Amino acid sequence: MKFGGTSVGSSGGIRRVTELVLKEGREKVVVVSAMSGVTDRLHEAANTLIKLPSSVVGKKVDEFHRDIVKKHLSTAEEVIEDNGLLEKVRRDIEKLAEELRVALLGVGHLEELSPRSLDYVLSFGERFSILLVSGAMNSAGIRARALTGREAGIITDSNFGSARPLYSMMKTSVRGRIEPLLKRGILPVVSGFIAADKDANITTMGRGGSDYSASLLGRCLNAEEVQIWTDVDGILTTDPRIVPEAGLIKTLSYVEAMDLAYFGAKVIHPKMIAPAMEADIRVRIKNTFNPNSEGTLIVREQKRIETVVKAVALHRAVDIVNLKGIGMAETPNIAGKIFTLLGDENINIIMISGSSESNLSFVLRRKDVPRAVDRLNERFLGNGIRDIYLIKDVCIITVVGVGMHGTKGIAARVFQVVADEGANIIMIAQGSSEVNISFIVGEKDGDRVVQALHRRFIQE
Ligand code: ASP
Ligand code: MG
Repeated sequence: MKFGGTSVGSSGGIRRVTELVLKEGREKVVVVSAMSGVTDRLHEAANTLIKLPSSVVGKKVDEFHRDIVKKHLSTAEEVIEDNGLLEKVRRDIEKLAEELRVALLGVGHLEELSPRSLDYVLSFGERFSILLVSGAMNSAGIRARALTGREAGIITDSNFGSARPLYSMMKTSVRGRIEPLLKRGILPVVSGFIAADKDANITTMGRGGSDYSASLLGRCLNAEEVQIWTDVDGILTTDPRIVPEAGLIKTLSYVEAMDLAYFGAKVIHPKMIAPAMEADIRVRIKNTFNPNSEGTLIVREQKRIETVVKAVALHRAVDIVNLKGIGMAETPNIAGKIFTLLGDENINIIMISGSSESNLSFVLRRKDVPRAVDRLNERFLGNGIRDIYLIKDVCIITVVGVGMHGTKGIAARVFQVVADEGANIIMIAQGSSEVNISFIVGEKDGDRVVQALHRRFIQE
């Protein structure tokens, strides 16, 4: 059972979490995020401190330290009964906060924030929240133990900021740490998002990565189900801010869920599907604040439902990068080299269109574009690439549904709807799985096209 930042973001939330855990009769592990907003604040604090003159670092750190301690202590007082237990949690919070204070002073005075130090700083959010949640559980009569990712046996590589699990090592260590607790009837409360590399340095698995921690733990422990408890009922047919009629999707296949998470539905982290899919573990998305809603169930079976299209997603804040005059002859495997370069820079390519020998286009998050262009210019301009240009103010629209697989004429119907809206399609991609069709239109046309597609394929 994984509980996200809003679920553990207030004393009321934590009390609900405790009730939900009490109600779940099966053997379980709890995974939690940081209280909502805390990871962002840690991030901001660290990045502010490196720019401040040394003379004011101490004062700034003290202020931040005071706020963070206050937030967690006051929540602890509200969710933990005042017997010896509260006193112990209070001491643990203060000790941890002191560790954070020293780390921030270091960052501020050295004016240096490597990805490794940043991961260390960001780890505190989850390290505080496991204390609160396990404390609340213990206070409610559930025997619980707080574990950091490392204590739970989650081992990753040293790719700080978006560390990848070392699955074969982790499988043994997770079982070694978690199973003895379960046998003794103790509930493990594990911090999501953070882990450790082989040298015991703290790593993080990317923002929003607690879902990923949960499915990795589920996979290692052969779980029957991974539950993602969040603040919405589940995955919707589209963004309700664009289409108020958007409805809850009750069942999705892994592939559909992955495509949707990747292309815009922010409910789950796209990486969390793979571990579940490999071991055939169902994923259930539920609302902590509306537990009676059925939620969304994600399973292997690619059920064809009456509607061929299950969801329409919109992904904003992207740009198209076009590379012209790619000299395949002068530079063999240039596409491979370009993608490796971007991969090494941790820049994700969201979409690629079929390339011809002399032209290659792909889509990047807008925030990654300046860095990508700089690196590509340095490496390849005049050296395999003649010209780099951008197409801006665009968005990706993705139509998802396993029913599209093998259904003739779907693409034609989708593009007809787009044409009827007077929107120009700039780029198209369809994976060979045929579970999604993605295309790019101008940002100004995005909402209108999504509304028309939703009307035509889902509401009708
Ligand atoms: N606390 C982390 C974040 O805000 C991880 C998570 O919430 O899943 O990104
Ligand atoms: Mg989150």
